[in-house]
Amino acid sequence: MFKRNMKTNIIVTVFILCSFVCSTAIAEDSIKLYQVSSGVLKFDKGWLTAMRDVGKILEFPVAMYIIDHPRGLLLYDTGMNAAVSDGKCESYWGKGLCSAFMPIQRRDQVIDKWLEKFGYSVNDVKYVVTSHMHLDHAGNMEMFPKAVHVLQKAELKAAWWPEKFQRAAFVLKDYDNARDFNYLQLDGDFDLFGDGSVVVLDTKGHTQGHQSLMVKLKNTGTLFLAGDAVYTPENEAGVIPGITWNTYESMKSIDRLKMLRDSHQGSIWYSHGIDQYAEHKHDTYYD
Ligand SMILES: [Zn+2]
Repeated sequence: MFKRNMKTNIIVTVFILCSFVCSTAIAEDSIKLYQVSSGVLKFDKGWLTAMRDVGKILEFPVAMYIIDHPRGLLLYDTGMNAAVSDGKCESYWGKGLCSAFMPIQRRDQVIDKWLEKFGYSVNDVKYVVTSHMHLDHAGNMEMFPKAVHVLQKAELKAAWWPEKFQRAAFVLKDYDNARDFNYLQLDGDFDLFGDGSVVVLDTKGHTQGHQSLMVKLKNTGTLFLAGDAVYTPENEAGVIPGITWNTYESMKSIDRLKMLRDSHQGSIWYSHGIDQYAEHKHDTYYD
């Protein structure tokens, strides 16, 4: 009797362990990640690297991600609003923002078109994780009224009533019809599928509720999609980011991402890294 119970216990334990370990392995095995860009923004590099390269006007990619997880399709950022496409910036952002950021976005670079290109539709998207609510990251969240929108609660509050000195980069029109969407309002980190493969990381500093995303891929390894927590390789190397809500918190978040990068032997992918973006593939997925 005792022996049979022992045997049953061992089988149950192995089953429980396997269901955790195996499900993690299966998830990692089949995740696909696409990195795409919502066009470019043209501005002074000094905005990203304080006291470094001030006066250098460059074209920066606006990275966003489509992640196909076995338990749901998710996006990390939705780029610049579709209305900004094809030279029509002023009709949506207004003259001031258009001359400050000088966006160049073709309509086929908007997130819905990227989804179509890879065989998905906007209705397939289950989760929209938005790094923060700035105009080049949250521009098309209203395209996804059926998705769960994963955001830090602090960011939602800041976006609806930004600090006066930060107000310029928030475009209320991007989300003023999204008040009744389904939000997962976070206050810190969150393991999105409970298997460790896609984890939201609190990286406040650039804005009050900025969040990055850790994604574990079988062949590519562990990626830290930084959003604007780390704009460029200079920030990763220690140069203070130019535009921040709180520089102290921002530097703490960069240190946190670097620590995780090392402990997971992963790499940080920037939101606006010119050379890194050019080196990556964008017509197919990473796995
Ligand atoms: Zn930003």
